[in-house]
Amino acid sequence: MSAMNRRAALFAGASLAATVFAMPRRALAQAAAPTGPFTLPPLPYAFNANEPHIDALTMEIHHGRHHAAFIGNLNNMVKDHGQVAAMPLEQILARLGEMPEAIRTGLRNSGGGHANHTMFWQVMGGKGGAPAGDLAAAVTRDLGGLDKLKADFNGAGARVFGSGWVFVTTDRAGKLALVSKPNQDSPLMDGQHVLFGNDVWEHAYYLKYQNRRPAYLEAWWNVVDWAKVAERYAAAKAGSLRI
Ligand code: MN
Repeated sequence: MSAMNRRAALFAGASLAATVFAMPRRALAQAAAPTGPFTLPPLPYAFNANEPHIDALTMEIHHGRHHAAFIGNLNNMVKDHGQVAAMPLEQILARLGEMPEAIRTGLRNSGGGHANHTMFWQVMGGKGGAPAGDLAAAVTRDLGGLDKLKADFNGAGARVFGSGWVFVTTDRAGKLALVSKPNQDSPLMDGQHVLFGNDVWEHAYYLKYQNRRPAYLEAWWNVVDWAKVAERYAAAKAGSLRI
C-alpha cells in the first residue's frame, strides 16, 4: 500500500475508529505505562469530555499514544544519565544547554512534549466562557481583552508552519504574553511560565478537522477550563507553578 493510500485508509474515520476500539483496552494501558522517572499523568476527565469540539478518539490517541511516547522516549534517554533522571522536568528544560550533548536534542523534543501535553490536559475539560478576576484584568491589560486575545492566538496558531504550539505565558509578576513555538519547544526553555497553550500538531485535530486548523483553533476555546487557568495564574505568581 502506498503512503498516500495508507493515509487515506487511516483517515477513513469509521474504519480507524473500528480498529482502535476493537483493540483490547489493556493494549492502550500498557502503552501508557512506561517505566522510569517520568510517568503519564492521568487525563483529569473522560475522553469524551471535550465533545463535540474535540472528539473522544483524538483525546484517547493523543493522551495514550502521543503523550505516552514522549515519556517512553524520555525514560529511555535518561537510563544512563542518573543526574538528569533525578532532575525535575522544568529544570531540565530551563537548563537544556547544560544537558549531556548526546541526549540534548532528545530532551528538548520529548521533554518539551511531556511538559506541553501535561499543561494541555490541565487547561481543557471546561466549558469555555471567559476568565474572571485578576486574570481577566491581566488579559485586558496585557493582551487587549479576550476577543483580541482569541483573534491573535488563533492567528498565531494558524501561522505555525508545520507542527508547534501557541501559548500565553506569564512571568512571576503576572504579566502575560502571546508566543508560538515550533515542534515541542516550550517557553520553559526561555525561563517563562506557560499559563495555557494549544497544540497545533495535526494529531491534535486531524480526525475531526482534517486540514481546517483555523476551525479547530476557533472551537478549542469552547473547552478551555478558565478556573484551571486561573489556578495556574495564581500558582505562577506564587512561584509554585512547575510545568
Ligand atoms: Mn500533541
